[in-house]
Amino acid sequence: SELSYEVIVVGGGPAGLAAAMTCAREGLSVIVLERGRFSGAKNLFGGVVYTESVLSVVPDLFSEKRLPFERPVTEEGWWILSEDGVVRLTHTSRAHWEKPPRAFTAFRARFDPWLAEKAREAGVLVVPKVRVRDLLREGGRIAGVVTDRPADWGSERPAVVRAPVTILAEGVNRLLTVKAGLFPRDFQPEEVALSVKEVIQLPKGALEARFGLSEGEGLAVEVLGEATLGLPGSGFLYTNTTSISLGVGLFLSDFAEKGIKPYELLEHLKRHPALAPLLEGGETLEYGAHLIPEWGLEGLPQLCGDGVLAVGDAAGLVNPLFREGTNLALYSGIMAGRAAVAAHQKGDFSRKGLSLYEEAFRQSYIYRDLKYFRKLKKFLRENRSLFDTYPGLLNQALHLYLTAQGRAKEEVFLEIFTLVRRRRGISGLLRDFTRTFRFFK
Ligand code: FAD
Repeated sequence: SELSYEVIVVGGGPAGLAAAMTCAREGLSVIVLERGRFSGAKNLFGGVVYTESVLSVVPDLFSEKRLPFERPVTEEGWWILSEDGVVRLTHTSRAHWEKPPRAFTAFRARFDPWLAEKAREAGVLVVPKVRVRDLLREGGRIAGVVTDRPADWGSERPAVVRAPVTILAEGVNRLLTVKAGLFPRDFQPEEVALSVKEVIQLPKGALEARFGLSEGEGLAVEVLGEATLGLPGSGFLYTNTTSISLGVGLFLSDFAEKGIKPYELLEHLKRHPALAPLLEGGETLEYGAHLIPEWGLEGLPQLCGDGVLAVGDAAGLVNPLFREGTNLALYSGIMAGRAAVAAHQKGDFSRKGLSLYEEAFRQSYIYRDLKYFRKLKKFLRENRSLFDTYPGLLNQALHLYLTAQGRAKEEVFLEIFTLVRRRRGISGLLRDFTRTFRFFK
């Protein structure tokens, strides 16, 4: 009792569902195997989703009775924390108020099931509660998958699903991507970030008053500095309809080396004087942690093999500086889906037959960004002062400047100058500036 499809997709997240929909809309028979109880059950993100990427898979998004989002993002930026202070650098403009909004906050437990429903409407068979254990190999190519389900009632043999094309959309753990031979090794702790997140419910009125929002407005900020105890990483605070998503993440290697417990880091952030009053009286709705692939270009797998493709987080398509992940997952899913369709038209399922994906990917901005930021990890590791020195310095310098009334300003400037010299030194400052300039050049 083996099942056969034209395309198998492993993983019912944004990447897998986008790939599946693209194939099904071109008439292919597609099955999505998702290990969670439903799509989104095992997923966690910050989360901001970008309208344009969602429209690329669901063009009639705005004819939905109820959008699968929380609030449009109308203000965004950074909160830079010192031990007891904060510099808030956020931006809003007319562009943020344009209709349709360019980004929304969302919950994966709502967004993913909605997307899975759209995939079903497109003709995809989405099967939850099935874990793909292994890949089926025949004549040197991937010919399907082996699941954790028994082939027949009471049988010991696992159920096998066959297809000439298997799309691996399994997310950051990428066990099958490595098994498929698309990448030679597991990830290292310094190549992934671990982020812990809590959803805290607040009364709607209190939420809007505390964050200076009206109905139909939303805030999305990254929280830097003391949020990560001065280590490379960041926190985030996004407003939902009646709750906030608060989280913080570091490289997995830093958690291990410094002996920091993820939940302690989040508690530390929640106790910060700039945040604690905003959270007061809030009720925890959800708590979880998830890895983020940050291996960049050097961890980019071969995107296609014979009968197989890798998309989304499985390929490491995340840009942490710009909070891109779900959109790259959707775009890569579409590109891989189109390649699967072309392979079916040609009847060639070899790596060459699927190479339309690699070609499209290499012409996309996703690949350009991976190349542009190829030294990001090294840069962050070698410039820790960006996280442990500058946030405090910025807070202190601004405090001196803003409380200068009643003093000789020459004295205040001298104090700021001395502070900078003491905390970083003029040569250190110049070095940091040159390195940062070179990195972005
Ligand atoms: P996933 O969403 O991880 O989906 C993979 C799916 O595969 C899962 O449903 C899983 O259950 C299933 N699966 C895995 N293995 C198997 C198997 N063997 N058999 C069957 N099913 C399997 N991106 C943004 O755009 N905006 C943000 O604000 C943002 N914030 C983030 C904050 C955090 C804390 C984290 C962790 C990530 C964030 N991201 C954000 C990144 C974004 O969530 C990911 O890039 C995106 O979800 C990748 O989609 P995917 O479909 O590739 O993988």
